[in-house]
Amino acid sequence: MKILVINAGSSSLKYQLMDSENGDVIAKGLCERIGIGGSKLTYKPTGKDKHEFEKDMKDHNDAIKMVIDALMDKEIGVVKDMGEIDAVGHRVVHGGEKFAKSVRITDEVIETIESLNSLAPLHNPANLMGIRACQKLMPGVPMVAVFDTAFHQTMPKQAYMYGVPYEAYTDLMVRRYGFHGTSHLYVSGRAVEKLAEAGVPAEASRVITCHLGNGSSIAAVKGGKCVDTSMGLTPLEGVPMGTRCGSMDPAIVTYLMDKLGLDAKGIDAYMNKKSGMLGLSGVSSDFRDLGEAAEKGNERAEIALQCFSYAVKKYIGAYAAAMNGVDAIVFTAGVGENDRATRARILEGLDYLGVDVDFAYNDSCPRGEEVELTKKGSKVKVYVIPTDEEMVIAKDTARLAK
Ligand code: AMP
Repeated sequence: MKILVINAGSSSLKYQLMDSENGDVIAKGLCERIGIGGSKLTYKPTGKDKHEFEKDMKDHNDAIKMVIDALMDKEIGVVKDMGEIDAVGHRVVHGGEKFAKSVRITDEVIETIESLNSLAPLHNPANLMGIRACQKLMPGVPMVAVFDTAFHQTMPKQAYMYGVPYEAYTDLMVRRYGFHGTSHLYVSGRAVEKLAEAGVPAEASRVITCHLGNGSSIAAVKGGKCVDTSMGLTPLEGVPMGTRCGSMDPAIVTYLMDKLGLDAKGIDAYMNKKSGMLGLSGVSSDFRDLGEAAEKGNERAEIALQCFSYAVKKYIGAYAAAMNGVDAIVFTAGVGENDRATRARILEGLDYLGVDVDFAYNDSCPRGEEVELTKKGSKVKVYVIPTDEEMVIAKDTARLAK
């Protein structure tokens, strides 16, 4: 089936037309600066030249219309008419406790997603704009919502409750939800398959997945099910990230509001946009820049990188404890797949767990492929598995649209 995968943000929209049977990407691209002037569509049919179209997109309807026009264009298009697109899969960030699985989009589903807007005020309304635009422009085409939080809904209560009055959970939905679910699902699934080949039965497998990118989260996956994850009510909790602070003493929030004269919005921006690697280093949120700066002797860049690796290492220890051991550790996303120095820092000193890393191979292994970083006989395997969230969305969409 030909599935259009849509990831709509407030002013951008990523799309990918995929063949859900073989996972081939037919065409993909990006709409940028929607509704803010200077908009641009990028369109790249696989194996052919990339095209860029600068045309005003005042809203998501304009953006989706341009995407469809490009896909159906007589010269550069990849489908003859709309009938060739079998279904649309939408990435939706927050499914709260309402969605533990992907669902076919109905009016009721839209209402429920809307009711969760307060949990993801930047993301869910934008995701809904993408859904509504597709419904309007592609009537009759089945639509599916795939949630970033869904994979983590198997967590037990002891992992998702916070130590605040219980009413905060029952009345205000305060609990750990976790994010990057489609990525953790995909890479943990691949690791479980690899472990099965190595003799570890799927139902007994214990995998720690490290999705390390601009946003980072770690998950503990036992028998294929998520039992804990580092992000919480929002994607701010966990390890320090590109610009997000990650976990810290909650009293820092009120202390800084008081000292810096910040209101709720101000402290939110401070923790989400000015903190993490950027705030610590004063250099950049990008790990490539940080690596270069640290190499040139920038102490703050070095400290930022150390804080990051140390935080990831502590989650690995915690999740090994949570699962009574670990069979595989997986690295994925921009940093996890590419940043060898950061991987090495995280993996140093994990021999107590039975991790025997081939550090020379970590330094020379190919990028963009699934590789094993541990030596033969290592009790715990370490894999790098490139993530493929679009594939998960396309497969779920095809299954539900049939
Ligand atoms: P993501 O959010 O998954 O797209 O990851 C983005 C992060 O991956 C950025 O901080 C990049 O610096 C980092 N990254 C991408 N490629 C490399 C690389 N070759 N070496 C180090 N970091 C990289």
